Amino acid sequence: MNGLRMFDFIKSMDFVRLSGTAGEEKGAEIIRSECASSGFDTQLETFATQDGEVISTELEVLEPYHKVYEACAFRRSACTDTVAEVKYAEDGLPANLIESKGKILLLNVGINRKKYEALMAAVPAAVIVGDGDFWDRNEETNLQPGMLRPFVTEGFEGRLCAVSVRKKDLYDMIVSGATKMRLKVVARDFENTSRNVVGTIPGNRFPEQIIAFTAHMDSTQFSHGCYDNAAGCAYLLELARHYMLNPPARTLRFIWAGSEERGLLGSKYFVSAHKEEVDKTRLSVNIDLAGSPAGHDFAIVTGPSELTNHIDMLLKEAGHAAETRTDTYSSDCIPFADSGVPSVSLGRFGAQGMSYIHSCKDTLQFISAASLDKTGEMIELVVDRLVNAACLPFERTIPNDIKKKVDDYLLKK
Ligand SMILES: [Zn+2]
Repeated sequence: MNGLRMFDFIKSMDFVRLSGTAGEEKGAEIIRSECASSGFDTQLETFATQDGEVISTELEVLEPYHKVYEACAFRRSACTDTVAEVKYAEDGLPANLIESKGKILLLNVGINRKKYEALMAAVPAAVIVGDGDFWDRNEETNLQPGMLRPFVTEGFEGRLCAVSVRKKDLYDMIVSGATKMRLKVVARDFENTSRNVVGTIPGNRFPEQIIAFTAHMDSTQFSHGCYDNAAGCAYLLELARHYMLNPPARTLRFIWAGSEERGLLGSKYFVSAHKEEVDKTRLSVNIDLAGSPAGHDFAIVTGPSELTNHIDMLLKEAGHAAETRTDTYSSDCIPFADSGVPSVSLGRFGAQGMSYIHSCKDTLQFISAASLDKTGEMIELVVDRLVNAACLPFERTIPNDIKKKVDDYLLKK
């Protein structure tokens, strides 16, 4: 692993790579040309996504005061042009949603599948949620449009109208007691195309046993996604480079996934399109978040405790500090775990207030080659022992409690 080379790669990916855009496509091409330069042949696998664009959002409080607020509708939001009564519905609990029909609801919380079901049953005119943090300065942060993901809206006739405002504006509407509002949203749905970059290095001893490596290459809107997750992509390139020169015992599958930030769409597509191969996959290694100088390394196993213990002992023996635990991890490991493949997510959590995700603050400034090297030592150690193990020290099984957590997670997305 070479921290300086990884840093240079992250620098080359220092732009917005939103799902289904030219940015994501450009990221995929950079990854493919890096692979080609080490003689590693890759393919591009494209898949359709349900996307949406917001053409305009206008929000104006009419009573008991008059004020226009910056607002941005969710992608795939319903359109509206209405004047309606406003109600502060707190967290959208059942008692909050009584007599909400036809009203514009102010909400403290985001919209997952369960919340969406409750909101659709309440039939509000629209819902307004807060984005970011109360202390965000307008000139330093962007108002992020949310997304009503297909998984969230599936099975309903019609769609909710959902709009984001800045947290400080939401707070202002709550404390100022907004009662009447005009809201106008113009948006449209469209089908988009996203992509995964994939490649294989055959095993020379146990070729029928597959280890899959994932790292998502997309970012959220406005984010250059250096820490989340050009850094993870860089490790996969280093691993591919290493195993092209040092043939592995097991077959290695590399997946630089698209549209992770839209609900793990690239990895979901991969497991559905390669079912037979996934049946032969014994382990998935996911790398998401790394490069942060201030922070700590982690190894989170979504699988049997034997694997967690193996990694924990290995790292302790090597004197490498890392948080190790058995849990779910919100990333491309989930579709593999959902298909019965044990997963380990490796990376580095940036310390709070000294690293950022999903915002324009996720920049090259919070990445260092030394930090990449440090986490690289852990990744190399954990991965190489498993790739070349005489026998894998764990079964291909997901314990029931973790299975339940994965199911809960997928329902919430
Ligand atoms: Zn990520």
